[in-house]
Amino acid sequence: MTQPDTPSPSEDFVRTAVRADNAQDTFAGRVQTRFPPEPNGYLHIGHAKAICVDFGIAADFGGVCNLRLDDTNPDVEETEFAQSIVDDVTWLGFAIPDPVRHASDYFDQLYAWAEHLIGAGLAYVDDQDTEVISEQRGGFGKPGIESPYRTRTPEENLDLFRRMRAGEFADGSRVLRAKIDMQHENMQLRDPIMYRIRRVTHDRTGDTWCIYPTYDWAHGQSDALEGVTHSLCTLEFESHRPLYDWYLAQLPLPGDTPRQIEFARLELTHTVTSKRRLAKLVTEGTVDGWDDPRLPTLRGLRRRGYPAAAIVDFCNFIGITRTNSRHSIEMLESFVRRELNRVALRRMAVLRPLKLVLDNWPTDADGAPVVEWFEVANNPENEADGTRRVPFTGELWIEADDFAEVPPPKFFRLSPGREVRLRGAFLVTATDVVKDAEGTVVEVHATYDPESKGGTAPDGRKVKSTMHWVSAPHAQTATVALYDRLFTAEAPGERTGEPLDDLNPDSQEILTGCRVEPALGETPPGAVVQFERLGYFAHDPRTPLLFHRTVGLRDEWAAIQKRQGK
Ligand code: ATP
Ligand code: MG
Repeated sequence: MTQPDTPSPSEDFVRTAVRADNAQDTFAGRVQTRFPPEPNGYLHIGHAKAICVDFGIAADFGGVCNLRLDDTNPDVEETEFAQSIVDDVTWLGFAIPDPVRHASDYFDQLYAWAEHLIGAGLAYVDDQDTEVISEQRGGFGKPGIESPYRTRTPEENLDLFRRMRAGEFADGSRVLRAKIDMQHENMQLRDPIMYRIRRVTHDRTGDTWCIYPTYDWAHGQSDALEGVTHSLCTLEFESHRPLYDWYLAQLPLPGDTPRQIEFARLELTHTVTSKRRLAKLVTEGTVDGWDDPRLPTLRGLRRRGYPAAAIVDFCNFIGITRTNSRHSIEMLESFVRRELNRVALRRMAVLRPLKLVLDNWPTDADGAPVVEWFEVANNPENEADGTRRVPFTGELWIEADDFAEVPPPKFFRLSPGREVRLRGAFLVTATDVVKDAEGTVVEVHATYDPESKGGTAPDGRKVKSTMHWVSAPHAQTATVALYDRLFTAEAPGERTGEPLDDLNPDSQEILTGCRVEPALGETPPGAVVQFERLGYFAHDPRTPLLFHRTVGLRDEWAAIQKRQGK
């Protein structure tokens, strides 16, 4: 495995750039970043990478990283999303400086700066609708067409812009545009829109405004107002950088001019990391809400049992690059497994129960079966986790596929005449089966060796198999959700352009009537335990005795690397 023991962010091109700025005293040694999500959905694993980059780099250089909600579009934003963003960043382990910032905090200053640009002859009111404007923008090798309103005087523009703000014009009837260059090779600079008229009540500013700034107009200016030095974002904003710089260059900034640096988005195999696509899965009912354990939302991963530390370690391990690539989900799972191996308590659970009856199990003076209590380690990886008492008696549940009446080749688990170990308890030998009318085995009979207490025979004879079990009279009944990939294809949508075409119809299997040892009933909500031999399972935060399979035990990433000769 190329996984280091303590993954730490290695030197990358962004850190190198920050170091160079510090060496040249560009920002007087200050480093400030921000994480600027739009509150129009829940954060996903891709955002986790951006969070690790933004907060991680600020922390490395003794700087600050603000959380700034980009609430410039009142049509799609909701308070529910804003709160979830704060919760998720905090859950990942990053301290959010108080207060949480909002692009809307700067609406007044942005408006004043827009008037400044108008006064300087660098912005104008356009009466055309946005379709015409976008048509006239042209394209690569296709010249732009100047708006007939481009030559309005600053006085006329100022008057119209003030009346736009005052609510004199209908929604969509006018926009404010920057006056840059309609023939620029970069489309972003072909007189971009700065304000649109939209009568929608804003979450924070209410009905104060009926004009709202665009992302490009709000973003760099908000950075400058907050004192951001390094504005880190994903590669799709690269073509916006000249516009980012242009706006800042025209304005009387209160301090440093921030610098935008782009890095590659995180994508994972077998899933999608786009809020729009995730929203579609949720609204169309393909999954059960934003915290469905199959989703790569931080909510979903958390409910699935992914530890925050594993997500952060993974993000730091893959590092920051400028090449877009899709990482194996198996690699993320490998980080999850490693963290859970350290912290998860071991328990026994039988997912598909088959009754095992020990015919020679003793009864007490009243004729009731004896109950033997075994003291079992909670986590062999961590002695401090202590032990628990596990009951054992003559009627047990074992996993149905741990028994075969006619064992196929290489099947070493229980079959008639075969002796196996019941983990930590006794050696047992199957003797007989009971079948139902259809001929299905419904009960296995066996004898146990009273001399083999703890699981070893005094004569040292070997058995090939150790199986988990649960005492039938003590068992609790649980529901267990097994998950497979949400999409069958590594790159969902690559074939047809529509990710839903690659949806895995069997991504969830719900098992009811699972039998689990009594200690599992005490598992705290949200905690993850290891079911011996089966994998890691997260206790649902709301529904007692509902468990979600986080990951299996086998390290598929190690297997993939082996195949690739690493
Ligand atoms: P989506 O495409 O999922 O809607 P977005 O970019 O519109 O995502 P924002 O809320 O604008 O979502 O993102 C906030 C920050 O997170 C931005 O700086 C963005 O660059 C970053 N980000 C979003 N998705 C990813 C990703 N997959 N990998 C890394 N960073 C991301
Ligand atoms: Mg975005």
